[in-house]
Amino acid sequence: ALTIGIVGLPNVGKSTMFNALTKNNVLAANYPFATIEPNVGVVPLPDARLGKLAEIFGSERQLPATVSFVDIAGIVRGASEGEGLGNKFLANIREADAICQVVRAFEDGDVVHVDGKVNPASDIETIHTELILADLQTLEKAVPRLEKESRIKKDVRPAYENAVAAQKVLEEGKTLYAAGPAAGVDMDAARGLGLLTTKPFIYVFNLDEDQLADADLHASLRELVAPADAVFLNAKLEMDLMDMSAEDAQEMLESFGATESGLDQLARVGFHTLGLQTYLTAGPKESRAWTIGQGWTAPQAAGVIHTDFQRGFIKAEIVSFDDLVEAGSMAAAKAAGKVRMEGKDYVMQDGDVVEFRFNV
Ligand code: GDP
Repeated sequence: ALTIGIVGLPNVGKSTMFNALTKNNVLAANYPFATIEPNVGVVPLPDARLGKLAEIFGSERQLPATVSFVDIAGIVRGASEGEGLGNKFLANIREADAICQVVRAFEDGDVVHVDGKVNPASDIETIHTELILADLQTLEKAVPRLEKESRIKKDVRPAYENAVAAQKVLEEGKTLYAAGPAAGVDMDAARGLGLLTTKPFIYVFNLDEDQLADADLHASLRELVAPADAVFLNAKLEMDLMDMSAEDAQEMLESFGATESGLDQLARVGFHTLGLQTYLTAGPKESRAWTIGQGWTAPQAAGVIHTDFQRGFIKAEIVSFDDLVEAGSMAAAKAAGKVRMEGKDYVMQDGDVVEFRFNV
């Protein structure tokens, strides 16, 4: 499943946010892996379509797509040189699909800031620097090795040149995610070298309650991290929201000028940043959302349910969610000619409601 690693300086609200994420234990019963590791939280991606499908099909339960969050402690200034928890965090980051940095914007005299003052730009740079230094350490070994190999084998030359190009970006103090593509770095090859800053970055700004509706502040923070995505939340408020009914939580959010909880935003933005989408299956037992990449074909999508579905794929019976809801039932959608039979080249669309036909 999609895994997002949470990083940030000490005392910015990581644990508070992570606790809010994992308090979200509605899933525990359906997803046994939700409690496997103490630093992993599995969060459902809210999807109103599932409720509608469950109505139409009389489903017993609803299973939303999920996003896993891993709390990665240990990045402080000097971490890449072994300060704090040292290099342990690197292995955790390596396994994540995206890096989510929590940045403190809230002012609170009772909560010490490691650098003595609240300064989002400087915090972001500190974390970037540690990750960039870790990548430069990786390249310090890889570049001479590739250079040597390329003298013997001509076809290693592009890999060597790419590593040098990546090194140049990093030496300028930029992450590969932000500056690699524009500098002509082959990002797949850079990923293959295990370079951490190739991963998509998402920034979560932990705000005071009275900053939640401050559009000017949001705009300036957005500018700071563009083109990466930004999410604005108040970690303490997110904790409170988890204890409330959906209606009360919505009312509470609106009283602060927000419409969506920070954690819902984060799951949504994570999906967007990683180019993911969901398709749906429905029946009397369950209505369920499945995570796939944009541009995936029907057999690839079937493979997410079971590898046998992909191998034995024959065709897919597909109706778009909107058409199904308009028709009111599967039978009515069929009668209206809205249900299509698609073959192995069909490219999945977000919100396709699917039944796969396959050989076993
Ligand atoms: P971590 O070190 O990044 O994991 O930070 P914590 O989540 O432990 O938070 C550090 C301190 O800041 C705790 O005392 C939290 O209660 C407090 N804190 C976290 N989020 C907020 C917030 O949004 N506003 C305020 N005022 N305090 C917060």
